Amino acid sequence: METDALIQQCAQLIHDARRVVFLTSAGMSADSNIPTFRDKEGYWSNFPPFKEKGLEAQDLASPWAFRNELPHAWAFYEWRRRNAHDNKPHAGYTIINQWIDERFDDAFIHTTNTDGYHLRSGCPVDKVKEVHGSMWRLQCLNVCSYAYWQEDSVPLCDLDHDTMKASNYPTCPRCRSVARPHILMFGDGEYTGHPEQETNFHAFAGEPVDLVVLVGSSGAVPTNDYLALEFMRQGAPAININLDPSANSIVGTEYLLPLKGKEAFEQLDAALQAL
Ligand SMILES: [Zn+2]
Repeated sequence: METDALIQQCAQLIHDARRVVFLTSAGMSADSNIPTFRDKEGYWSNFPPFKEKGLEAQDLASPWAFRNELPHAWAFYEWRRRNAHDNKPHAGYTIINQWIDERFDDAFIHTTNTDGYHLRSGCPVDKVKEVHGSMWRLQCLNVCSYAYWQEDSVPLCDLDHDTMKASNYPTCPRCRSVARPHILMFGDGEYTGHPEQETNFHAFAGEPVDLVVLVGSSGAVPTNDYLALEFMRQGAPAININLDPSANSIVGTEYLLPLKGKEAFEQLDAALQAL
C-alpha cells in the first residue's frame, strides 16, 4: 500500500482511539541526534580513544566498568549527557504530548530510551515509564540504599576528550561513594529501578488498550516489540513506525510506516487535522 494511504488509515486509528500506548525506542531519539551505539562504526567515530583500546559500548555501560574502568565509564555517560543537553526533543515528542493532552481518554509512554526526552518535552510525569532508566538520574554505585535522585547538571564531571577519561565524579549523598547513572546497564543486577513509574504503567496496562504505537525499535533490544505483541493479543491494532521493514518481524502489523519518527508524527498529525 502507498504510504499516503497508510498514513490516512493510521490517522483514522488514532482519531478513533481512546486509550493508547506509545512504545518508543532508539529510532525515536535518532532524529534528535542521539546516537544509538548499536552501530559499532558510529560508536567508534564518536570515541576514538575507546577504539584504540577496543572498548565497546557494552564494556563501558556496566557496573563492572564503573568499578574497573571508572574514568572511561563515566566519560561515556558524561559525553552522552552533554550530547543530549546540546540537542533537543524533536517535533514528534510534542505531537505525542498534544495528542495525550487533547485526543485520548488516557495514554502512556513506555520508552527504552535513557535520554529523558519524553519528560523534557513536557509529557505528564505520571504517564511515562523509562524502562531502562534515565541518564538524568543517579544512584549509589554500591547500592547503600535503593534511592535515586535527579541530577540535571551539565557538565556533571570533568571530561578530557583526548583520553576520553572523566574525573570529579558525582557521589552518593548517603555514603559518599561514587554515584552511577540510574540506568539499566549490561550485566546489571544493581539498577534500583523506578517503582513509581512501574506502578503507574501497571495501573494503565491493567485496563484495555485500543491502540499501540511502536516507534523506532531495533531487533537488538526487542523489549517494546514483545510488549506490543501482548497488547495486540488483547485485540489492539498496532502502528509500527520504523525505517527498517525488518523491524516489523516480531509484531508483523499491517500498519508499518517506513518513516523516521519525526516525519511520521508530523504526517500523522497533518492527516488527523484534515479528518
Ligand atoms: Zn551510597
